[in-house]
Amino acid sequence: MAQDNDKTLDPKDWTEIQSLGHKILDDMIDYLQTVRERKVWQAIPEHVKAIFESSIPKFPVDEGIIYQEVKEFILPYPQGNIHPRFWGWVNGTGTPFGILAEMIMSTMNVNSGGREHVSNYVERQVIEWMKDLFGFPQQSSGILTAGCSVSNFIGIIVARNNALGYDVRKIGIQGHKKPLRLYGSNQMHSSIQKALELAGIGSDAINYVPTNDDFSIDTKLLREAIQHDIELGCTPICVVGNIGSVNTGSVDNISELRKICDEFNIWLHLDGAFGAFLRLSDKSELVEEIGSADSLAFDFHKWMHVQYDVGCVLVRDENIHRSSFSLRPSYLASIGSGLAGGGVWFSEYGMQLSRAFRALKVWMLLRANGINRYAEMINKNLRQAEYFASLVEKQENCELLAPVISNVVCFRHNPGVDDENELEDLNKKILAAMYDNGRVVTSYTSLRGKYCLRIAITNHRSTMKDFDILAAELQNIIKHIDK
Ligand SMILES: *Cc1c(COP(=O)(O)O)cnc(C)c1O
Repeated sequence: MAQDNDKTLDPKDWTEIQSLGHKILDDMIDYLQTVRERKVWQAIPEHVKAIFESSIPKFPVDEGIIYQEVKEFILPYPQGNIHPRFWGWVNGTGTPFGILAEMIMSTMNVNSGGREHVSNYVERQVIEWMKDLFGFPQQSSGILTAGCSVSNFIGIIVARNNALGYDVRKIGIQGHKKPLRLYGSNQMHSSIQKALELAGIGSDAINYVPTNDDFSIDTKLLREAIQHDIELGCTPICVVGNIGSVNTGSVDNISELRKICDEFNIWLHLDGAFGAFLRLSDKSELVEEIGSADSLAFDFHKWMHVQYDVGCVLVRDENIHRSSFSLRPSYLASIGSGLAGGGVWFSEYGMQLSRAFRALKVWMLLRANGINRYAEMINKNLRQAEYFASLVEKQENCELLAPVISNVVCFRHNPGVDDENELEDLNKKILAAMYDNGRVVTSYTSLRGKYCLRIAITNHRSTMKDFDILAAELQNIIKHIDK
């Protein structure tokens, strides 16, 4: 007879979990297939919110019952980003094969921090593919991350250590007596600010540079800002280039940034969260020089539609990358061969020691689609942005607020009003009605003091017709509001 201490968390009867597994898998594929029939988003009722206020469970609950609860209380209330008419914020859409990839990942449940097992080889191949795609040199390094915020953070840390030149890990930034400076346009993503805060440098170190009409960084003002700071005795650590800025999808002039960084010997970090993959598109000339960066951060969970979460950072100088993060006490030392060996340990290139096998889903998805199919999807989104912008321009009561550079359109309703506050109120009302209806989802931002609505199209499920629906919905709501 089985003793108490022979108990595990595995089931006694594996056939039961297997049939539940089959049922869930079928349901999930159905859920994805029928996503268009549902609302993009709907409010969570109070009685559902109350479910998530219960105390910690003490005793086992049948898995079948838990799954019923998931169906009733969780699956109906998603963010909406897998829906074909979701263009709020820059969110990826995922794919059905990605569901299967995650299932395999979680079955193997390996720790991809290091040692000799196959996940390291898969991740190394993904990194090699990315170096190749973006034109990074052979000897550069890289790591998969939980997303571009982490990738940006790694880039900033390496740039900081490179600029300071002494043992920053031991002495900290106190070892440097001069104020540090980081440069980027006023369109830079907030994750850069966060990175500076976490790096102990502080957000005051950011010198925000104004932008041109197309919202790309004004490189003349950038050069002047650097020169001025150096005269004041500051130490520049990094220039950050926006490759697809979050607000407008603008792209900074990479070759100009490279020139300036070479001139002053400053690290060039590029934030290409989604825009890096313009490399695959008909607009690849925008990012031709992307491989000249010292570090490049980007996401797979946005425009490459790999399930959340997975990003990547590439670093031109492997030594400075590794020396910024490597820490191998005796219990983590390699013993050459066997399980405890294993060449590159990814835990030496980032913060995490225990890491998910994210590389598997990237590897499987890249192979399943090939970069050619991704190119088609990205080109489609670029055309859709142009198409929707043309629909906005046709409406007398609407206006565009920024040129369409890539996949983002900034627009608003303007019935011929000058007052910015009034326009903001009006467009906020439109947003509220839009979320209420749940037929389309856009987001909002503010450009040079002007409030606007914004679509960021990173959605392989959207069709051209979906943008007609958006335009019609907009006019419908405006009609009701103007009454
Ligand atoms: C999304 C985004 C980030 C942050 O990436 P996460 O994956 O959300 O952490 C950084 N920069 C830009 C331009 C982004 O669009």
